[in-house]
Amino acid sequence: MTNTKDVIDKKRVFIHRNETELSEIVQIRLEDLLKQRGFEVADEYDERVALLACIGGDGAFLHFVHQYDFPPRPIIGINTGHLGFFQEIAPDGIENFIDIYEKENYTIQNVWPVEADVHLTDGMHRHHGVNEIMVSGPHTHITHLRVDIENERVQNFSGDGVLISTSLGSTAYNYALGGSIISPELDAFQLTPIAPSNTNAYRCFRSSIMYPASLEMTLTPIRRSVDDKLEIVVDGLEYRYANIRKIVLHRSDKALHLIRFTNYNYWTKLNTKLL
Ligand code: NAP
Repeated sequence: MTNTKDVIDKKRVFIHRNETELSEIVQIRLEDLLKQRGFEVADEYDERVALLACIGGDGAFLHFVHQYDFPPRPIIGINTGHLGFFQEIAPDGIENFIDIYEKENYTIQNVWPVEADVHLTDGMHRHHGVNEIMVSGPHTHITHLRVDIENERVQNFSGDGVLISTSLGSTAYNYALGGSIISPELDAFQLTPIAPSNTNAYRCFRSSIMYPASLEMTLTPIRRSVDDKLEIVVDGLEYRYANIRKIVLHRSDKALHLIRFTNYNYWTKLNTKLL
């Protein structure tokens, strides 16, 4: 049997980019430089590819990993977007990056998405969120969800919905909803409420709840008819389901491998990107 490691060609690179003019210019330059150094640029992602390059912002990165179903290869992000939390280098750092890549003078940051198993009355659907998974109802009605961790009830939530974010996703939608920023070294997920209702009728937590990513969380729709739809938004990709019995959330085994320079510092990135 052939081992995947035997198939991988260290000099084979696949480049993905978004549609902006700048990203196109950066792609042409990257391809030229790689070819000058004896690399082969693949037209499509295949199992021989050793390195993936994603040109764009965080949004482009998210689209890329979903499009290619979380490819198990090192990814270098080249930022032509606004923020670039996933992206390691700016376009003027490409040449330096190729040197570093050839000398293997980098580290890998492994990122574990959150997985949602959506159990319907007649089947199951699975989703993986790098930033987050949001569960919400039709916004003209309040949504009620029972929240359990490891089969122990935490609360009955009432409001627009909840967002379960990863550590790296904590600076995205989670942050805009008032959730905390989590250091990526912390292996944790965060449940952030969206417009929680707190009245004499309904009581639930107004703040985020942070919990170890090794634990399983279950959301069970309550006080609703089974054919009411719920919206599940995964890194901006929208899905709608009726007849949901429960949604089970846990750490995914589809890890992403981000190339980081040895001087990568999350706090510097946070300071320069968000303040
Ligand atoms: P988009 O609405 O076109 O852009 C989303 C924005 O979020 C972009 O500025 C993007 O940065 C930034 N972003 C993405 N991941 C991030 C992260 N981990 N940390 C900090 N900022 C991050 O949507 P999209 O491009 O399809 O991206 C989907 C993401 O948008 C979702 O995962 C969700 O987190 C986020 N979102 C945020 C809000 C909000 O803040 N109110 C609302 C809806 C969705 P770049 O400029 O580098 O691409």
